[in-house]
Amino acid sequence: MSTNILQKYIRKMEKLRIDRARGAAPNKPLLLLAVIERIEQGQIPENKIVLSPELAEAFLKYWSKLTDRKPNIAMPFFHLKSEGFWHLHPNPGYETALGVASQLKTASRIREVIAYASFDDELFLLLTDTHDREVIRQTLVNTYFADFKQVIESLITEKQQIDKYRRSLLRQVKHTFSSLQPLAQIKTEKPIRTAGFRRAIMRIYNYTCAVCQLYVLTLDGESITEAAHIIPFKVSGNNDVRNGISLCQLHHWSFDRGLISVDRNYKVIVSELMLERGPTEWTLTTLRDKPILLPEHDEFYPAQDALAWHREEILRR
Ligand SMILES: [Zn+2]
Repeated sequence: MSTNILQKYIRKMEKLRIDRARGAAPNKPLLLLAVIERIEQGQIPENKIVLSPELAEAFLKYWSKLTDRKPNIAMPFFHLKSEGFWHLHPNPGYETALGVASQLKTASRIREVIAYASFDDELFLLLTDTHDREVIRQTLVNTYFADFKQVIESLITEKQQIDKYRRSLLRQVKHTFSSLQPLAQIKTEKPIRTAGFRRAIMRIYNYTCAVCQLYVLTLDGESITEAAHIIPFKVSGNNDVRNGISLCQLHHWSFDRGLISVDRNYKVIVSELMLERGPTEWTLTTLRDKPILLPEHDEFYPAQDALAWHREEILRR
């Protein structure tokens, strides 16, 4: 890509029209940082930027470092169009709604009206290039977050480490599963490990509880599901995704306490201790013998060794 084109967009990035009123954090550069992060992670392979919960979550992470005010990703997602390089593509039937800014103030309304946004093609190309993307990111950080440079840069680094760790977990399934991994060999710091494991499991199970199939994902990326270890991490030191399963908060709690488990045919076992006691036990007992939700690819299935360990050591009989 020619340096002229890069220079052209650097100048545009330096001159974003920002609403600095009432202590608001600069919305547009934060959204751009979040989009750049998603491109870097390979989550936006083509020039179509959807207002997904994951994008909202990425935006929220930056936002919360800068201000306590309530974030609203809808504002920059819509108003970035005035910069000329960000284009909005309406869903069929909503072509005229695009012109009315006052109607597009919430994320749910944006998702209803706008199918996706796109960059100028030449800008998107720049953003897919490691070097040019970094130059643009630095321009945004230096121009709009000079006072928060360290905070923003350490957040970017942390997010990169989490994603790198997530990718390493996915590569691990090429090797034979081993239940216990020496704790001494773990070099990644705990927050990175926890976030990377969670992210890997959430993507594999699409934020759905494997036991009851509950799916609650808010528009800002909050989910009711958690990444559970089958053999607890403090026992196994094992963040292999095959030692993981996505569970809602009720079933994570029940699984960790041995009230439910999973048999070798991936069906739910409910502890005998839970049967026919109390009026609300049905929340667990109706799950008995139901097949769990399995990942799309069998290489990510829960490991039989880990499930056997859970039945032996945790399940209450
Ligand atoms: Zn559940």
